Formats: sequence, structure tokens, C-alpha cells
Amino acid sequence: MSTRDINLYAPRGRVSESLPQPDSRPVLHRAQLVVPITQPAIEDGAVVVADGVILDVGPFQQLRRQWLEAPARDHGEAALLPALVNGHAHLDLSGLAGQVQAKDGMAEWIRSLLTARERLSQIQREQARLQALASLHAFGTGIVGDIDSSATFTGEDSDGTLVVRTFVELFGLQIESLEAAVDGLPHPARRALANGQKNVSLAVHAPYTTSASLLREAKDWTSERAKVVSVHAAESEEEILFLRTGKGPLRDLLEEGGMEPGRWQPPGCGAVTYLDRLGFLDSLSLCVHVVQVSEEEIQLLQRSRAGVCLCPRSNLFIGNGLPPVRQLLDAGVPCAIGTDSLASNADLNLFKEMTVLVDQCSIGPDVVLAMATFHGARNLGLTSHYGSLEKSKRWLAIRVAATDIESVIAAGCQGALEWLI
Ligand SMILES: [Zn+2]
Repeated sequence: MSTRDINLYAPRGRVSESLPQPDSRPVLHRAQLVVPITQPAIEDGAVVVADGVILDVGPFQQLRRQWLEAPARDHGEAALLPALVNGHAHLDLSGLAGQVQAKDGMAEWIRSLLTARERLSQIQREQARLQALASLHAFGTGIVGDIDSSATFTGEDSDGTLVVRTFVELFGLQIESLEAAVDGLPHPARRALANGQKNVSLAVHAPYTTSASLLREAKDWTSERAKVVSVHAAESEEEILFLRTGKGPLRDLLEEGGMEPGRWQPPGCGAVTYLDRLGFLDSLSLCVHVVQVSEEEIQLLQRSRAGVCLCPRSNLFIGNGLPPVRQLLDAGVPCAIGTDSLASNADLNLFKEMTVLVDQCSIGPDVVLAMATFHGARNLGLTSHYGSLEKSKRWLAIRVAATDIESVIAAGCQGALEWLI
């Protein structure tokens, strides 16, 4: 599907084009398959919606009897499911698509990324970012957790079909306080944080690029405001080597870039253990990648109730291997799915991310769909409104041209979907 001609502010698709504004009276949306996520898929199902809010979900015949006055809209041989949640992206890196070397490991990838990023103009970056937003929308993503290192903000778009949660990214092995880190940010980021802008929170880049005190203070700041804090954690073997010994390719990279560790001392343990020791892990922490973890660290994640976001295609692109998805799920760790950036992925189609988990990690499509919707919303702190088709939640849903769960992901990969408003 081409994304060039997509206007984010004009919902596309047969249904949405005929219905530009939400109905204020209840409407019965019927389809051969309704996938609520928080309950089993319903054959010949329906969702009752008014004013953009879900009033009821169930078998069509039952809801038809209960909502006699409501007009029915039949979406036919298709599946209705909640909008997807991309738990981790870097929209400001979208201009790097196809520009960064793959498969040579973490330090080499970062080196290649930094070089390519210098070649991009501000206009190219912004155009690529808008195209990325359109692409997310085209492939059924309604909510995105966006890591922003250049501090270009966005919020909910005008019709509410794309919700962006922005995480302002902080770095600094030698920066000891949050105040100092924030002082170094561009003005829009400082203003958004100072004003308590609802859709903006903090990300600390990673344990190998951020001091212990900055990690702690960022966690304290987000906890006091009941916001999620994001961190790349346990992404590569090189990261674990650096955290254990202070040595390896990432040390070389930091020194090249003028980010010498200085007084920073390696914690001598894995990334998740380190974050746990710092008191960083709780239900409002989002650990991204989580590839290099021990069984004990998986238990630490479970006990802390921290969220995880898996980005398997990015991991494969860089050469980091795949995360232990089965073990994380078996332990009860809530795992969302993200695409990461176009510097380490071919596109922003979350259905393709799901395919990797189904085909290469043997995770069932129903579980993977829950990861890409409900757990994504949970891990971004948005589960009260999004992530499933349930009473009282927002009607942010897509129609996919498939009639069984197994086929939904394949159809989504092809872009065979429409937005329902
Ligand atoms: Zn990332």
C-alpha cells in the first residue's frame, strides 16, 4: 500500500468515508468475526457504538434483540479488531530508512546511524516523520509510543485516530541530575515537560548511556506524575559486556563520540538486574528489547510488574538475535510489540512484526494480537481507553479482510484493512 497519498486527518476506507463523524445515536457494527482481545473472538459478532464509545460487544443476534432501535452496519466477511498499539518507535529517525548498515552488531549500527543522521536536513527529517505517521495509520496502528530525541512533539490528531505518546529521550553517563539533562534539551521539550503536557513523558536511552542518578531521578519524576518511563534494556551482548566489565565495542563507541564514561563505574551485572537495583522497575516502567536476559531477570521483571516491548525485526536487523518471548510470556510478563525506527526496520507495519513472533517464535496468533493491542495499551498506560473492544472504551477499531484469527495477521501484512469511525 502506498502511503504517499494518505491524509492523516481524513480517515480512509469504505466505512469511514461514508461516516466522517461519530454517530451520537447507537449503531450496531456487525462482522463475521469480532476480535475483542479480552474475550474469545466472536463469530457473527457485533459492537454497539455511540459517540465514539463502545456500549456493548457480543453475538450479533443477541445484540440485535437488545438494541432494537439501533441501525446496523454490516461489515460483512471481515474481522473487527481494536486499533494496533506500536509500543516503541522513533519517528524522528524515519528519514534514515535504508541508510543504516545491518547485522554488524550494536556499536557498528549506532556508528552508521549517527553518520547517516548528520546527512539529513531538518526538512527531510520532518517530511519523513509525517510520512511515517501516515504509514502507521495505513497499517492499522492507532496508538504509538514515540521516543523523541529531537523534541518535535505531536499529540492526538484532529479526529482521534492516531494517538501519539511522546517520550523525550535523555542521555548522559556523566550527567548526574535530571535538571542538568533537561537543561540540555531543546526549548519545546523543556516547555512540554514543565507544563505537564499530558501526552509527554521521559525515556532514558539505556543503562549504558545514562548515569545511575539520572536513571533514578527520571524514574522519580515519572512516578510522581503517574507516567510511564521507557528505557532500552538488554538489547545486545555488547551492552551486557559493557555493563559487566566497562569494556568492549560500546566503550570504544562512547569514547569516539566524546562520551567517555569518566567516573561512571560498570555495575558488574546484566541490564535488568541493574535497573532493579536502582529501583527503576515497576508497573510504570517500559523495558524495550529485553533480548539478553537470564531466567532470574525474567523473574525480576515479573515480580516488579514492569512492562516489556519487543521489537523482533529490529533485533534481527542489527544482529542481536530474538528475545526469549516464550519464557517472558510464560512468566506472565506483559509484552507489547514495537517496530523501533526505520533505521533498523524495513517498515512500520506492526502486522509484519507479529509474523516474526508467530513464525520464528511459535507464539499463537491470538496471543500475538493481544500483545499488539491490549498489552501495548497497558504498557503505555492507556488501557482505560484503548487496546480492546470492551464497554466504555473508545471506538478506535479496524476492519481487516479476514474471517479467522489465523488469517488476520497475513491480511494486515498486505494492508487489507480499513478504519472504522
Ligand atoms: Zn529504540
